[in-house]
Amino acid sequence: MSELTTLIKEARGHLDAGRSLEGLDLAQDVLARARQAGVPEVIAQALDLNGEAWLLRSDYPNAMTCYLESLELWRSLERRSEVISCLQCVGQIDMHVGNLSAAAQAFSDAFDLARDHDPATQAPMSHRLGMLYARLGEIEKAQQFHEAAVSVHRQLGDKAGMASSLNSIGTLFLSSAEANRFTDPVAAQQALLRARSYLEEASALAAETVDRHLQGLIVGNIGSVVARLGHVDDAIELMQAQLRIVREIGDRYNESLSLANIGEALHLLGRTDEAIEALRESLSIAETLESVARQRRAHEELARCYEAIEDYARALFHFKRFYDFNEATRSEQNESRIRDLQVQIAVNEVRREAERYRNERDGLARVNLLLHDEAYRDALTGLANRRRLDEALMEAYSRIQQEPLPLSIALADIDHFKQINDRFTHAIGDEVLRKVAHLLREAFRDSDLVARFGGEEFALVLTGLELEAALRVCERVRASIEAFDWAAIHPDLRVTLSIGVTDVVSAGSGPAMLALADHKLYEAKRSGRNRVCH
Ligand code: GH3
Ligand code: MG
Ligand code: MG
Repeated sequence: MSELTTLIKEARGHLDAGRSLEGLDLAQDVLARARQAGVPEVIAQALDLNGEAWLLRSDYPNAMTCYLESLELWRSLERRSEVISCLQCVGQIDMHVGNLSAAAQAFSDAFDLARDHDPATQAPMSHRLGMLYARLGEIEKAQQFHEAAVSVHRQLGDKAGMASSLNSIGTLFLSSAEANRFTDPVAAQQALLRARSYLEEASALAAETVDRHLQGLIVGNIGSVVARLGHVDDAIELMQAQLRIVREIGDRYNESLSLANIGEALHLLGRTDEAIEALRESLSIAETLESVARQRRAHEELARCYEAIEDYARALFHFKRFYDFNEATRSEQNESRIRDLQVQIAVNEVRREAERYRNERDGLARVNLLLHDEAYRDALTGLANRRRLDEALMEAYSRIQQEPLPLSIALADIDHFKQINDRFTHAIGDEVLRKVAHLLREAFRDSDLVARFGGEEFALVLTGLELEAALRVCERVRASIEAFDWAAIHPDLRVTLSIGVTDVVSAGSGPAMLALADHKLYEAKRSGRNRVCH
């Protein structure tokens, strides 16, 4: 086992270093060995390892297969933190392939398990849930989870975390304003005001941290909100503050974005020359970064600016470039959408397969259990039935053939049971049968077989007991049934038992035992009942 643990560590080393192929090879080897060893915990570990390796190779269907199986194993082992991290991986895969609702479900399950357990893991989880619900367009739920994240960060005294979650709530309202911009301008205006107040709170908190990236992000978002509220001058100032920060930390991508935003705002104010200057700079950074999205945006804004100053040749040039990038992104998006869809279908197939397998297995186990019960148990008394008795006798006979062990068999029959039925009703008869069965079961060892032989007769297979010992137990049980207080069932009820006992020595062979026991029982009846004969 320690060898497997070493291999798991080695494979993880490959994965951590980004050597996904070596990691995957080793992980598969580890899994095969773990399955051979058959230790669930190690199998689950190996499955997680494989899932991780497939994820690194962006093979989502294979990753999902691994995680769904390990999830089940961890659940059956009741390992909470492993279940949580598995659920997070499942959610992540769902998110990658666009199963947003399924992802939300997996993350919510993980979140519920983590609640009151580990606030440090809970914060990123609620953050992720917030982002997810935002993408699903469920703003209220998204807000709820971001608020939860804020309060966890507050508990932990994590200002950057609080600022980041408040920023997320702010952008939530900003995008809701965008969505309502034309259909419901009043709601859009309100959303912008709420966005601003969340973002300002976020900004004040971020200012107390050293996280320049976060500060830049928030100030840029406030700029966008303020611009949409119509305060373009203020917006430009805020955007320039963002520009200074992203330049300071060398974030070229956001530098290009910030310049494009500034260009757009300047253009709105009619300061077209300055706008063109900012946009040209944005474009040149986008070109060195080879960022399609940023180039497209810069060309679009530049086309508008040149159109405004009636430089149609340049306007047309930039419009054409914008159009080309637009087409390129569109077909790229379509291609990747089709690819994503294929992956999504494969992942869902994996999930359904796992579900089907689980249902089948559970169903089979249940049916087996039932069959086992029904086939080997007597329904009225719960004792072993005749079939079970026959099997046990076959086993016992073949065992004593191999080694000479003591074996005794007894047949017990309730005396004048017909009269009990006739005098006190059949229902009371049944009650007596159940009670006698219970008393018999209690009197013998677990290793002895107590079976209902039929009607009001019972068979006892007493392995390892010589005749003497068997007689003692049978006499004790006879006496206890006679002495039992049957008045609880009916005041006038009396129950006694006749028993015939034999052992392998007296009978001469296994198969002859039952007939001899029956003969001895007949003797007990004939000689006055309520007695044990051998
Ligand atoms: P003996 O002392 O000679 O054994 O007399 P007995 O009346 O016990 O024997 P007999 O074989 O004449 O009657 C057995 C009765 O047991 C007949 C049958 O109706 C009844 N019986 C068999 N199975 C059940 C059952 O499941 N429930 C009830 N209430 N009665 C049963
Ligand atoms: Mg009887
Ligand atoms: Mg009988």
